[in-house]
Amino acid sequence: MPIDATRPYDDTNIFAHILRGELPCNKVYEDDHVLAFRDIRPLAPVHVLVIPKGAYVSWDDFSERAGADEIAAFVRAVGRIARDQGLVAPGYRLLANVGVDGGQEVPHLHVHLFGGGPLGPMLAR
Ligand code: 5GP
Repeated sequence: MPIDATRPYDDTNIFAHILRGELPCNKVYEDDHVLAFRDIRPLAPVHVLVIPKGAYVSWDDFSERAGADEIAAFVRAVGRIARDQGLVAPGYRLLANVGVDGGQEVPHLHVHLFGGGPLGPMLAR
């Protein structure tokens, strides 16, 4: 069920459990502000979820409330992970679903990083 991205942050969401170490993840990157791990149901040969460690519901929430250090760390981490995964030359795709129309299911900001092969059209029609 897509979530309402205007609701306050709910720290019972699955990524909050992962951040607290209560659930495992297949980690690919971590720093003071960012955690990245493989999606449990990958939609491409490489499918990584990049999340801020702070409690932000969505891109909207993050862009409004996060500090400059958190935002810089997040943007740099996405680029670094893409480079580390060898995706710059072949290419890749970033996606952040927000709210009901975006089909966001987990109410903690995440950017999907897809790669490892041709990714097809931008959106299903
Ligand atoms: P959304 O639709 O919110 O943009 O994407 C949520 C993503 O989280 C989905 O691609 C889903 O497969 C992934 N996901 C949901 N639960 C877990 C989990 O427990 N572990 C991991 N690694 N990914 C999860």
